[in-house]
Amino acid sequence: MSAGLPSVAVEPFVFGVDLDGVCGDYTTAFRTIVAQELDVSENELPLERSWDFREWNLERAGGFERLHALAVSGRGLFADMPPIEGVADALWRLSDAGIHIRIITHRLYVNWGHASAVADTVTWLDTNRIPYRDICFLGKKPDVGAHVYIDDGPHNIVQLRAAGHEAIVFDQPYNRDLDGPRVADWAELETMVMALATEWLGATQPQLPGVDAGADRLDRKRS
Ligand SMILES: [Mg+2]
Repeated sequence: MSAGLPSVAVEPFVFGVDLDGVCGDYTTAFRTIVAQELDVSENELPLERSWDFREWNLERAGGFERLHALAVSGRGLFADMPPIEGVADALWRLSDAGIHIRIITHRLYVNWGHASAVADTVTWLDTNRIPYRDICFLGKKPDVGAHVYIDDGPHNIVQLRAAGHEAIVFDQPYNRDLDGPRVADWAELETMVMALATEWLGATQPQLPGVDAGADRLDRKRS
C-alpha cells in the first residue's frame, strides 16, 4: 500500500467584504431615486454626504427609512446599483490566489422586503460578475470568522476593531475621521489584502498560466 501524501486540511484565508459603499455605489444609486422622489436635480444632493444624509434634508420626504424602503422594494436599488470601479476583477484575482471571499451585508436591517432584497443582491452579484464563496445577511455585524474585513460603515469598523479584528476602511466622505488602515480604491485594497494573505498563508498561488483570467470569464465560456 502506497503511503501517498498525507492529507492536510489547509484553512483558507477569509476576506470579509461589505457590499454597500464598498462593492456597490450606494450613494449614487440612492441619489438617483431620491432626486426623482423629491423632484429635485441630483446636483442638489451632494455625493460628499454624512453617514446620516443630513445634507440631503430627507425629512421633507418622510426621512431616510421611508426613502430607503421605497428604493429597495419599489425601485430596484439593490438590483441596479452601479458597481464600484475595479471590484470584480480585483475579487477574481484574490479568489484565484486562493482567498475565500465572504460577502457580509447589513441589507436586512429592516423588517420588510427581505425576499426582494436577497434576490436582488444575489442577482446583482452575478450580473456584475463578483465572485464569492458564501454570503452572510446580518442585522448586526459580529465576528463572522474572516481574517480581514473591508467596510465603509464607521460603526462596523469601530466594532470590528474593538473585538480585535483587522478591519480596513474603504474611503468614503463619511468615514474620514477613522484611523487607518484605509484604502481609496479596489487597486489599493487588492494589494493590501494580497499582502495580508501572503503573510498569513506563507505564500499565495499566482494565477496559473493558461487559466482563464478576468471577471468576464463566465460570459466568455457561455458564448
Ligand atoms: Mg457598507
